[in-house]
Amino acid sequence: MSLGPYRAKRDATRTPEPVPEGHGPEPAVDHTGDEQTGRGDAFVVQEHHATALHWDVRLERDGVLVSWAVPKGLPLDPATNHLAKQTEDHPLEYATFGGDIPRGEYGGGHVAVWDSGTYELEKWQEREVKVVLHGSRVDGRYVLFRTRRDDWMVHRMGRPPEGWLPLPQGLSPMRPTEGPVPADSDAWAYEVAWGGAALLVAVEGGRLTLAGAGPVAAFPELRPMGLQLGSRQVLLDADLVVLDDAGHPDRTRLAERLATPKPGRALLRGAPVQLLVRDLLHVEGRSLLAAPYDQRRAALEALELQGPCWQVPPVFTGAGAAVDAAARAQGLPAVVATRRTSAYRPGEVSPDRVRSS
Ligand code: MN
Repeated sequence: MSLGPYRAKRDATRTPEPVPEGHGPEPAVDHTGDEQTGRGDAFVVQEHHATALHWDVRLERDGVLVSWAVPKGLPLDPATNHLAKQTEDHPLEYATFGGDIPRGEYGGGHVAVWDSGTYELEKWQEREVKVVLHGSRVDGRYVLFRTRRDDWMVHRMGRPPEGWLPLPQGLSPMRPTEGPVPADSDAWAYEVAWGGAALLVAVEGGRLTLAGAGPVAAFPELRPMGLQLGSRQVLLDADLVVLDDAGHPDRTRLAERLATPKPGRALLRGAPVQLLVRDLLHVEGRSLLAAPYDQRRAALEALELQGPCWQVPPVFTGAGAAVDAAARAQGLPAVVATRRTSAYRPGEVSPDRVRSS
């Protein structure tokens, strides 16, 4: 174990990261016990918003932090292995580091401790490391195994955390019934219907997947929403729109975006999409499909999703006529009302969600 590669990549005058002195003896390597290095069983996971978002998983070993960069973070689902790239050993002081590495420096971007704790060692070999992590966010048995050179995979052994469910696959949006919107009633929540492309958006490990609107590469402006969510796992119901200068949905330009898998700079500038998020179907291992709309909506608002190309437009309870009048005055297509006690029924036409026709 050596911190040479760690030092070689960093200039102590330019980065706020701890850079131990480069001369003198190498850090305490104590094969006889842990007297010089504490208990020797610390682990830390740092969320690192570098050029690409990743989570750095570090295990204390022989006086250093042996490190892997994991693009999607530690998996909670034993059915899904995640890639892990072994990186240079880090000094023990790094375990509490958080801050901003300046752009242009090695690993430039924000670093924050995501979880830390201790680990029980079950096996440490050249190609396989097996540990039980005891943190506040992650608790469980993991194996890291080398596939080639610095490429490893990380696998959760046993079960997912108690009650944790993976994101459901293959769902499609619930569709509204067309008809007269129920008159003002406290039983309903009203919002503007934007008339865009309805889709479901899954986010996991900071990465987006779109169901119903083509590959996510077609909408690069939405990618930062994944970064904003970080490690939070969600499934969202949303409307994709292109707004014109007056704030009205522009169906022609939306159609152009939907038909363009690799938009050029001119199209991205001329027809940026907006993701209008209206419902939350799954969050942090918990399905909300059967939960009443009010509860889903409260959980959605708690996510505080807000960015240049994504937002959660307001809903109004018991005020259908006012929302309808406001929408029409602004030339917006219609109003949608959702029964506040209703469940979400993927792929179905729901009598509990009504769109004015
Ligand atoms: Mn990193």
